[in-house]
Amino acid sequence: MSTHVDVLGMAREQLAVAAQYLELDEGLHQVLSRPMKQLIVNFPVVLDNGEVMVFEGYRVQHNSSRGPTKGGIRYHPDVDVNETTALAMWMTWKCAVANIPYGGAKGSVKVDTKQFSRREIEKLTRRYVTEINMILGERSDIPAPDIGTNAQVMAWIMDTFSMQKGYTVPGVVTGKPVDLGGSLGRVEATGRGVIVAAEEAAKSLGINFEGARVVVQGFGNVGSVAAKIAAENGAKVVGISDALGGIYNPNGLPVEELINRYSGREGGIREYKDAEAVSNDQLLELDCDILIPAAIAAQITKDNAKKIKAKLIVEGANGPCTPDADHILSDKGILVVPDILANSGGVIVSYFEWVQDLQNFFWEEDQVNDRLTKIMRHSYAHVDYTMKQHKTDMRTAALIIGVKRVADATIRRGIFP
Ligand code: GLU
Repeated sequence: MSTHVDVLGMAREQLAVAAQYLELDEGLHQVLSRPMKQLIVNFPVVLDNGEVMVFEGYRVQHNSSRGPTKGGIRYHPDVDVNETTALAMWMTWKCAVANIPYGGAKGSVKVDTKQFSRREIEKLTRRYVTEINMILGERSDIPAPDIGTNAQVMAWIMDTFSMQKGYTVPGVVTGKPVDLGGSLGRVEATGRGVIVAAEEAAKSLGINFEGARVVVQGFGNVGSVAAKIAAENGAKVVGISDALGGIYNPNGLPVEELINRYSGREGGIREYKDAEAVSNDQLLELDCDILIPAAIAAQITKDNAKKIKAKLIVEGANGPCTPDADHILSDKGILVVPDILANSGGVIVSYFEWVQDLQNFFWEEDQVNDRLTKIMRHSYAHVDYTMKQHKTDMRTAALIIGVKRVADATIRRGIFP
């Protein structure tokens, strides 16, 4: 779906709304609507059968006014340079809303990882990193996992970069395995943060999170952890989907069992039988209190926004609601906690990981989780306050905060030379 949607257009439209509220200078608006650096690479990989295949990859740095650029690396067949740019821009605002000292970046490789062996993905990763290594660095641009990548891929990135430097540079990438300088709590951080945001939002709407009916679209790193923590915290997870389709049971689904026994199976979570099979579209329209889209961009659009029954949407994915959908949802009185706030837990704990790596001093998991929760609650309160002050929706409020922080940094630093 995301291939047909102009996500960069979406990101620019969102920026334009915030720029209007902030009465941003036109020149500054131009600066912020474009990425500072886009690197496109085409590189060969020798496959297991001896054939050579050429892959296209990108690394886009959007803005570094507030610090080194930060953002994940995505392996997906539908990526392109514009989508990667939009995702980099969202990283800039996300880091600014959380008030962590980073700008935004994103990387991607056009690849369907399911078609390749582990060894081929390792070679692809090492070659891709070699092609973009001149713009990476622990003080310049720090990748992390995203769709299609994981801690093992981060370990290969760290190793490749370090081999070329001649010494180990753990701080060049986050989301690494814990025994290689990763942080405790990083794997769960995005999903955990999504639930902190969901609980804060539920409170503000008078919804009791305990017993609330939750639907989660996507059962990857974000969706599965969000569903697990939602259930642990007393919510009833009634609907879940993965790439192959969804399942629904109004009495609740056994999230732990789905994670431990069904995800990763060929038939996915649909092999769990004590539930009704639903399509991805039906899943989004289920009767529930809280909907967590945690898959890919542009899932809630002008075509299905009218049919959404949730009272609250918490964006686990990046860009799941289009601007058209935002208007419809807002008219229906549905609160949307935007991605740049709701899913910032991942990059917040990436920041903790980076700080630990630079200091070679590692924290306990409770410390990580407590600090994460504190930042998420604080950001939520700030966005909520700004939303009421400007009488706007929550996405615009978050953008007002994020864009203003980046604009202020740019003005204070001045434009070189
Ligand atoms: N890929 C994640 C995101 O979109 C995490 C980025 C990071 O930790 O740098 O927020």
